[in-house]
Amino acid sequence: MATKTITHWIDGKLYEKSAERSGDVFNPATGDVQAKVAFATPSVVDEAVESAWKASQTWRSVSIAKRTKILFAFRQLVDKHQHEIAKLLTLEHGKVTGDALGEVNRGLEVIEFACGIADLAKGEFSENVSTEVDTYSIRQPLGVVAGITPFNFPAMVPMWMYPLAIACGNTFVLKPSERDPSAAMFCAQLLADSGLPPGVFNVVHGDKVAVDRLLEHPKIAGISFVGSTPIAQYIYETGTKNGKRVQALGGAKNHMIVLPDADMELAADAAVSAGYGSAGERCMAISVVVAVGNAADKLIPLMKERIAKLKVGDGLEAGNEMGPLINKAHRDKVAGYVDAGVKEGAALVCDGRTLKVSGRENGFFLGPSLFDNVKPDMSIYKDEIFGPVLGVTRVASYSDAIKMINSNPYANGVAIFTNDGGAARKFQHEVEVGMVGINVPIPVPMAYYSFGGWKASLFGDLHIYGPDGIRFYTRMKAITSRWPDPRHRGVDLGFPQNK
Ligand code: NAD
Repeated sequence: MATKTITHWIDGKLYEKSAERSGDVFNPATGDVQAKVAFATPSVVDEAVESAWKASQTWRSVSIAKRTKILFAFRQLVDKHQHEIAKLLTLEHGKVTGDALGEVNRGLEVIEFACGIADLAKGEFSENVSTEVDTYSIRQPLGVVAGITPFNFPAMVPMWMYPLAIACGNTFVLKPSERDPSAAMFCAQLLADSGLPPGVFNVVHGDKVAVDRLLEHPKIAGISFVGSTPIAQYIYETGTKNGKRVQALGGAKNHMIVLPDADMELAADAAVSAGYGSAGERCMAISVVVAVGNAADKLIPLMKERIAKLKVGDGLEAGNEMGPLINKAHRDKVAGYVDAGVKEGAALVCDGRTLKVSGRENGFFLGPSLFDNVKPDMSIYKDEIFGPVLGVTRVASYSDAIKMINSNPYANGVAIFTNDGGAARKFQHEVEVGMVGINVPIPVPMAYYSFGGWKASLFGDLHIYGPDGIRFYTRMKAITSRWPDPRHRGVDLGFPQNK
């Protein structure tokens, strides 16, 4: 059977010309190549940007009422088709069905937030700043903005961007991950079905070649990026050098402190859920448990019990809780970290390398691994592993724990488990991390807050979606008006003063 090729979405339709280069899209559960994805050349990117540019000339003037109507229609369609989108996610990413549905629903929340654009994009007005003079500010779209997104949330992370960008009056070019491109295409069709005019939302697939053209294209005004830290830094530096507004969210190494007074059953549930959910391929996954005092002695046996019961397998099969990793190279890289942890002297409590999934021998599976006695100089502590490998670090006191977290270069998410409100409050005040959970292991803010880490986890000034999303996708214009005033006051070369 011929392998299908996933092509671009430009000017409201599928791009028809054949691709010079393409990549493989795997089913990670079986290891099979299930499709090819076209890789855009610079000239294909130019076609998409040109279409977006043309559309931006009219879309920026489309009324808030009409934009809102389209967003509401899109919201209804995503809700209606959530199971189909979730299935695409499982087929290309590998995450289990329940997790995939969770992803779609967190994306849906941002679309719902964007439906409130009428209220969100209001400006300010001051009457009589001087006699019969008013000043007001309005928020206007940037023009064409691009989104470049990672493989681990192929539906949700683009939804962190384009619903708000479009609501604000921008047009959008999305470059989704080349590893799982189908969810973006499905949503492109839903946007068209919602009444979005051609060119307002475009998708180009590809790799660095496509991304580099977006970074240098003179008609791209802003770039939202989510991915690994080295690429985030590159995108931020190159995009801003080319005069663009850029927000670039990077990688993570999220800690979870467990104080000795914590509810250990709750902490064990949380650590296992947040460590191995989506096979650890989440930027908000917990990858280090910092156990204070004797907490580890109680916590580790409870975690071990839970890990032993986890069901790993094809995400489409009911009952499975953890699916495969994205591809073979990544699976082998993550398994290599388990080897490295053993070599570096950490104690391997659960070994995921031995897992076999029957009937899925060629799938990219790796079982959950747990280390005890992880030290800050080990590679399993220092690197973002992005797989089902969780380490426990033992420290004597709360102040050792906070020192360790605050000296880590990553600062995306963090959690504390305790029953002491005072300790939790001290922690939220002192910790140098962008998103904090108190007895909550994955503190992803709701759509009406904004999402973002600090330090090497985010380059740029503004977080993504929520109120910061509105700020990012608009620029302010301040207008000073005297109106009407039939009197002529003559020439005055002095600096205008308010009287
Ligand atoms: P990645 O950085 O490899 O890729 C992200 C995007 O950049 C993709 O679209 C990819 O095609 C493109 N890209 C890759 N290499 C490039 C290059 N050399 N030049 C230009 N573009 C390039 O990330 P990934 O492996 O797809 O995703 C996993 C990473 O994303 C992890 O580090 C994870 O922590 C991070 N992530 C962060 C957040 C967050 O909100 N901070 C959310 C999700 C994922």
